[in-house]
Amino acid sequence: MNESTPGQTDVRPAGTADTDEIQAHPAQKFGEDPLQVRDTDHYTNEYVKGFVEKWDDLIDWRKRYESEGSFFTDLLKSRGVKSVLDVATGTGFHSVRLIEEGFDTTSVDGSPEMLAKAFENGMSYGGHVLRVVHADWRWLSRDVHEKFDAVICLGNSFTHLFSERDRRKALAEFYSVLKHDGILILDQRNYDSILDNGFSSKHSYYYCGEEVVAEPEYVDDGLARFRYSFPDKSQYHLNMFPLRKDYVRRLLREVGFQRVETYGDFQETFAVDEPDFLIHVAEKD
Ligand code: SAM
Repeated sequence: MNESTPGQTDVRPAGTADTDEIQAHPAQKFGEDPLQVRDTDHYTNEYVKGFVEKWDDLIDWRKRYESEGSFFTDLLKSRGVKSVLDVATGTGFHSVRLIEEGFDTTSVDGSPEMLAKAFENGMSYGGHVLRVVHADWRWLSRDVHEKFDAVICLGNSFTHLFSERDRRKALAEFYSVLKHDGILILDQRNYDSILDNGFSSKHSYYYCGEEVVAEPEYVDDGLARFRYSFPDKSQYHLNMFPLRKDYVRRLLREVGFQRVETYGDFQETFAVDEPDFLIHVAEKD
């Protein structure tokens, strides 16, 4: 890892293949200076078809089921949740799982490509017809008129919002589609650890096997640019906002959630730097 100016980390982990050998993907359109792309609306350019399909081909849903265990479904059941709005459906992993567990599930995403893939996956994994809604979180209530027992925003999705105004707007919309005693479950990478300690090889993220490697390529207080490397040597990137844990907890409370509990890698007690993922459970009532 090379430290440059304070607060900025130009991350070049040992063992990374030559840049000639591995190419960033032009379909994602990050422009001439990818590090300046810090825009909430850019997410639809980042989840391009090739990336989404490759990702889904390589990540074995069964293995993902196993690594996640029954944490979310147990939590939802323990709160008596029946209806769930999955606001970050992506390719449908959680939506399908929830349907299989008997939850009345509606699947939202701002990317039509993602929703199409999720619908296809619903059919392939058990013949489930997903109820999909194309909506951006910031204007969710324009398209979603029901109220739900739970809203889930999983897979490090909230990180795509680049301004506080967008984050507040999205959280207020999540709050508004919940019943009076509803809960929001929102997860995120442990960016505190990345921002404070830099990147170490320990924090390469191998997704369900060794086939897809995700690692931060550049990090500062306003950007975490992650690189996703695939076995065919293609690379894709995501530009994300590095959310600090306490900041997210504060925002959740400020938009009106009464209680916020945070888990680290599915555990209630954890050392600050240890978990890769943090899961916030916010109660409306
Ligand atoms: N939850 C899924 C998973 O764990 O596999 C997908 C996660 S993917 C990292 C993030 C998803 O959030 C993408 O499908 C993206 O289109 C969606 N997304 C990001 N920003 C959004 C926004 N402002 N409104 C609606 N969807 C958004």
